[in-house]
Amino acid sequence: MKLFNSLTRTKEEFKPQDPQNVKMYSCGPTVYNYFHIGNARPFIVFDVLRRYMEYRGYKVNFVQNFTDIDDKVIKRANEEGVTYKDIAEKYIEEYFVDAKGLGIHKATVHPKATDNIDAIIDIVKTLVDKGYAYESEGDVYFRALKFEGYGKLSKQPLEDLVAGARISVGEKKEDACDFALWKAAKPGEPAWESPWGMGRPGWHIECSAMANRFLGKTIDIHSGGVDLTFPHHENEIAQSEAANGCPFANYWLHNAFLNIDNKKMSKSLGNFFTVRDAAGVYGYEAIRFFMLSAHYRSPINYSEESLMQAKAALERLHNADNNMQFLSENGSDEPLSDAQKEILSGFDKYRDKFISAMDDDINTADAIAAIFELVRDVNTALSENGTAAFAKECMARVHELCDVLGLIEKKEEASLDQEIEEMIEKRQAARREKNFAEADRIRDELGKMGIILEDTPQGVKWHRA
Ligand code: AMP
Ligand code: ZN
Repeated sequence: MKLFNSLTRTKEEFKPQDPQNVKMYSCGPTVYNYFHIGNARPFIVFDVLRRYMEYRGYKVNFVQNFTDIDDKVIKRANEEGVTYKDIAEKYIEEYFVDAKGLGIHKATVHPKATDNIDAIIDIVKTLVDKGYAYESEGDVYFRALKFEGYGKLSKQPLEDLVAGARISVGEKKEDACDFALWKAAKPGEPAWESPWGMGRPGWHIECSAMANRFLGKTIDIHSGGVDLTFPHHENEIAQSEAANGCPFANYWLHNAFLNIDNKKMSKSLGNFFTVRDAAGVYGYEAIRFFMLSAHYRSPINYSEESLMQAKAALERLHNADNNMQFLSENGSDEPLSDAQKEILSGFDKYRDKFISAMDDDINTADAIAAIFELVRDVNTALSENGTAAFAKECMARVHELCDVLGLIEKKEEASLDQEIEEMIEKRQAARREKNFAEADRIRDELGKMGIILEDTPQGVKWHRA
């Protein structure tokens, strides 16, 4: 599998450190509102990357954070007369509603910045001790230009960085390029104790701290929207590599922007849509299909026309699926004929096409084309010879590929499977902590749901009774 690495600006063969533990970190939402249609793009495309890696046999440890403290969260809380926590918790819940609607699987961990203040303080302390950071009237800043390689991700010459940097009002930095790791408390704002007095973390440091805590010093993949390349990701690299003395992320993936009617989305232009609004008009699945209809590194244009096209294309998939479902339940009950077997092996070429598209830097546009070619041939084959067994085989092939993209999923079953896996993970955690009463309780609860667990040397396997 090849991935385009923003760090080297080339498509590279993907070689994780450990295929059974691919470490992937994606910058998540700042939770002060419903997420918007632009935010949905990275959440969907990197969900597909993760699913595809799983399809190819990798085990993925995927972390996506919630930025639950920052100026926007505080502003919203003040406007509504509630605490920052009320706002963050409300929009974390709403994130999961929309994410589920869009078919985005839950990450392995969704850590929040404010649950990890200790890890944040630890890394800031290390940076101060190593001379990369300094305290200034309760703020702590990172000496950007001291980090050799600053600018290596965004490919900006240092002169340009220096020329473009400004010191804002209230900042107490040595150099305009320096950035805040820790901000001294302002009256009335939420604050945490630290060696530099009461304060709160800067934005960039939370991702370095949480990637380190949940994945380790060197991760395989770091992803996010292209707008995050500078300064956010550049600063994450500087902080993590200065603190740990080793590479931070081996592959950097960035999705291009989503525009609205060929214009940048912005509140002031009045073309700002939340996923919740858009789903009300077109449905969640059409949004997902639309996002995958282009390559993730090409800009994509959101318009009524493009969403209606996505809806129509999806309908063709659903019609084919309903037909396969109907025939598999009502078609004649004969074993597969040799001719049918031959047709089925002819379908293998579409799987190959799908895989080579996805292997080529997750080209979902071509992968979707392969699915449609398969569906076209399935429709023809079933109209000529629609026995139940044949319909079932066709359905398995279509769903195998659609599942990787999260399309025409049997929603209830998929989300139930996820719930079961989360319970199993909790049981494993309880066992690791030697809390056997809790582990047994979870096993019993799963038993009541008709789920049988089997402990094997490869880990826990489960099946329905
Ligand atoms: P934020 O909550 O603003 O930090 O953004 C969450 C994610 O959405 C980040 O990965 C951003 O890069 C991404 N993002 C924000 N706006 C857009 C857009 N218009 N198109 C694509 N991605 C976006
Ligand atoms: Zn981040």
